[in-house]
Amino acid sequence: MTAETSTTRLEAVRARIHAAEAEAKREAGSVTLVAVSKTFEADEIRPVLEAGQRVFGENRVQESQGKWPALREAYEGIELHLIGPLQSNKADDAVALFDVIETVDREKIARELAKEIAGQGRAVRLYVQVNIGEEEQKAGVPPREAVAFVARCREVHGLVIEGLMCIPPADEHPGPYFALLEKLGREAGVAKLSMGMSGDFERAIPFGATSVRVGSAIFGTRD
Ligand SMILES: *Cc1c(COP(=O)(O)O)cnc(C)c1O
Repeated sequence: MTAETSTTRLEAVRARIHAAEAEAKREAGSVTLVAVSKTFEADEIRPVLEAGQRVFGENRVQESQGKWPALREAYEGIELHLIGPLQSNKADDAVALFDVIETVDREKIARELAKEIAGQGRAVRLYVQVNIGEEEQKAGVPPREAVAFVARCREVHGLVIEGLMCIPPADEHPGPYFALLEKLGREAGVAKLSMGMSGDFERAIPFGATSVRVGSAIFGTRD
């Protein structure tokens, strides 16, 4: 028996993604695995980097500043995604550190990001977060406003919006929410859909997820 380590779990998640791609008749490699390393220390992330994983998700700017600059020095080709809420006073730090910001969800953030991207000259890729289940406690643009918000980001702020991101309500079948994000993505004219987490990433793939954000299934349970 193999001991359960982050690297054996990473391999298992990759195999499950490949199986789901095949099952959905999608091209092998069409789904990007974003390994969600929030709360885990650099020492716990290193084995996953050694195993070849390069795309990571974090939900806090400050925590990421503490661990990623050194890891970037040590490993080439790292792509870092911000998947947690962004405060407008952190937009400068977020633009400096992240390659993809998945949580654009209001006018003020769009404006700050536009300013920082122009000022820093960094081509950060942006996704709009949709509050797909219209839940009080979740961030994101309501589904009925998502297409117009993407248009405003483009036309008013000159931002390149590449995708949509969502977190469906817990304890509900996620399929209808994944289907709704896919529909909104088509209407908004974006190419990327970030949907699916440890508990449901295989179910997001038939609905067109281009990336899945998987944390605990790789790194283990968070404290
Ligand atoms: C923590 C987090 C994830 C990963 O969750 P797991 O259930 O551990 O896979 C994915 N997306 C977002 C936005 C998160 O905050």
